Amino acid sequence: MHPANLEYLGATGDARGFINSTKAMDIIMNDNRKVQLPLSDLKTCSRCGRRGERFSVCGGCGEKAYCGESCQAADWETHKKQCGKDRTHRIELLAFIPMIAALMEWYRRDDIGSDLPAHPALSHKITNSPNPDAPLDQLFDGSSTRLVKFGAPMSPKKVLENPEKWWPTASNDQVRNKLMRRIECERFLVPSIVSALVALMAEMYTTKYLPARDTFLNKMKRRIRLKYLNSPIADFGIAKGSVDVKPEDTLAYEETDPGMCMFMRGLDPANHYWIYFTTASGEELILDCGLYALNYCQVVNTERHGLELDPPIRDAPFYFQDRSEHNPPIAHHEKERFSVLRDFDLQEDIEWTQTATNHQEWQRKMDVLTKSLGEFVERVQGNRIMKEVKQLTAARCLASVNALAIRFAQRQYLGYTMVSESDVETK
Ligand SMILES: [Zn+2]
Ligand SMILES: [Zn+2]
Repeated sequence: MHPANLEYLGATGDARGFINSTKAMDIIMNDNRKVQLPLSDLKTCSRCGRRGERFSVCGGCGEKAYCGESCQAADWETHKKQCGKDRTHRIELLAFIPMIAALMEWYRRDDIGSDLPAHPALSHKITNSPNPDAPLDQLFDGSSTRLVKFGAPMSPKKVLENPEKWWPTASNDQVRNKLMRRIECERFLVPSIVSALVALMAEMYTTKYLPARDTFLNKMKRRIRLKYLNSPIADFGIAKGSVDVKPEDTLAYEETDPGMCMFMRGLDPANHYWIYFTTASGEELILDCGLYALNYCQVVNTERHGLELDPPIRDAPFYFQDRSEHNPPIAHHEKERFSVLRDFDLQEDIEWTQTATNHQEWQRKMDVLTKSLGEFVERVQGNRIMKEVKQLTAARCLASVNALAIRFAQRQYLGYTMVSESDVETK
C-alpha cells in the first residue's frame, strides 16, 4: 500500500479494519489532541511550590507531587475531581516495551510499499563465508571487522524464499538467518524510533480524564500514562552516542562483481542511537532495539503481549537496561539526547493526527507530519535523509497511532504482563 492511501485506514480501524463503529466514534471524538505533559520531576510541591529533593507522588494518578501530608490534604478538595486509579491507568513500562520494540520491527518490515531499495546485501548473493568461526577481515584503515562480500544481484523476494541460494556457504541455517536479520536490523534505526515514540506521544500522552457527561458518547475518558515501578515516566526520546562492542560484532560490505567497486560499513557502534526514558524520580532507562545488528541477538516475544500487528510481528530485537545493572552486558555512552515527549514542534504537529475531514486537508496535514518527522530525524542524525524515508516515517507513525488507538480503546494493556525471562530469547 502506498503512503498516500493510508487515509483509508483512517482513524476508524487498524490495518485489518477490526473495530466496531461505536469504538470508532469514540476514538474520533477524542479530539483536542493536545499533549498532556506528565510531572517532569518530584522536586516541586504541586500545592505550595516548595522545592525539595524528592517529594512523594500522588498514588492515585501519578500526576502530582506533594511536600507533605498537609499539602496533599489541602489540595484534595480540587484534585479529587481529577484523581483516581480508575481515571488514570498507569501502565508499567516493563509491560509496554515489547509494544515499542514491535512497532520498530514493524517499521523495518516496510510493508507499506514505499519502493525504497532493499539493503544491497539482501539483494545480492553473498560470495564469501563470514561465518562466526572465520578469521576477521582487516580494512584499509587497519580496523578489523566481519566483511560480507556480495556478487550477482538476487531479488529480495528470492533471498527470503531461498536463503541457501543467497548465502550458500553459511555454516548452518541458524547462522544464515541470524546474518539476514542483523542486516535487516541496520535499516531505519532512527526513523523507526521516531515513528514509534511520536505515535506513543500522540496516542498515550494526549489522553486525559473526562467525566462521562463531558464526552460525546457519555462514557468516561481515562488518562493513560507510563510508569516505571512506582515512578511516573517524565520524559522519553532518542539518545545518541556509542556502544562498546567488539570488532567481530561489526559488519562491512563489499561488492565483488567485476567492474563494481562498492564498500560500506554496517551499523557503526561509535555512532549509535537508542531510546532513553527518564522517570520523575530521576532514573535513567535504556531501550535499545538496534543492538541486534551489532550481534547482540536478543529478541522479546511480542505475541504473548497481545501485540499482533499486520503483517505479524512475533518477536522483536530488544535490549533493556536500568540503573540497577552495574555491569551491563553492553555499555552505552551517551553524548547527546533529543526529547520526543518534550519537543514543542513535535507536540504541535501531532495535534491533528485523527481529525481530517476531507482528502485535501488530510494530504496537507500528512505533508506537515512528513516534514516535521523528517526534520527531526535529520536533526538527530546530523545528515539529510531521502524524501521516501520521510514519507515512510510519517505513514508508519500514523499506522502506529491507529494500532495504539485500537488497543487503548479496548484496554488491551490491562492484560500486558511484565517482560520475564521466558519472553526473552537469543536467536
Ligand atoms: Zn507543599
Ligand atoms: Zn492524584
